[in-house]
Amino acid sequence: MFFIFESFKLFKDFLQPAQCDEKIQKRENYLLKQELPMAIAMVVAQRSKDPHTQVGACIVDDNNHILGYGYNGHPSGANNDDQYSWDKKGKHKFVCHAERNAIDFRTASVKGATLFVTLYPCSECAKTILQNEIKRVVYLDKKDSDNIKLTDSTFMLENGLPEKPIQFWDYLQQNVEIKKTRRGFEIQNLNKIFMTKV
Ligand SMILES: [Zn+2]
Repeated sequence: MFFIFESFKLFKDFLQPAQCDEKIQKRENYLLKQELPMAIAMVVAQRSKDPHTQVGACIVDDNNHILGYGYNGHPSGANNDDQYSWDKKGKHKFVCHAERNAIDFRTASVKGATLFVTLYPCSECAKTILQNEIKRVVYLDKKDSDNIKLTDSTFMLENGLPEKPIQFWDYLQQNVEIKKTRRGFEIQNLNKIFMTKV
């Protein structure tokens, strides 16, 4: 009888969760759900072969599920890409931009979706964004280049989208209760890690 009682006690102890002396705390610097699409866009940009500008885009639905992603590069059917020139003036004839690739290779409808992009869209991409009824554009950086001025795309997107394009940091501040100093530092680190010259 004693043996049965002791065996039962041992079995019961076995079923108990292991006791820890001290509780291990969760990580502090994990990516927020709202940061993830831009982080993916930054990583995707690293697929680009452009020696001067690497841009990434990621389209998500309202649940942050990915609908498409893209980076700037030659059309998928353009083989022998060593034969194309990457000089700043000539490359625009051959390169598809990140936003367009993200839309062209979407896995589901992007109507009503949010597009995260590392560089503000040009006017050609703005047209494609509006045609596909994307509702929001979140961008990391906005600046003209030698060949691309953003006046027209700004006009189109600000007037055509349900809400004006929003800079990533402002988007985060609107959607997450965070302290600017803490998260701002981390985002700058993300930039350092993933962003090259744009
Ligand atoms: Zn573009």
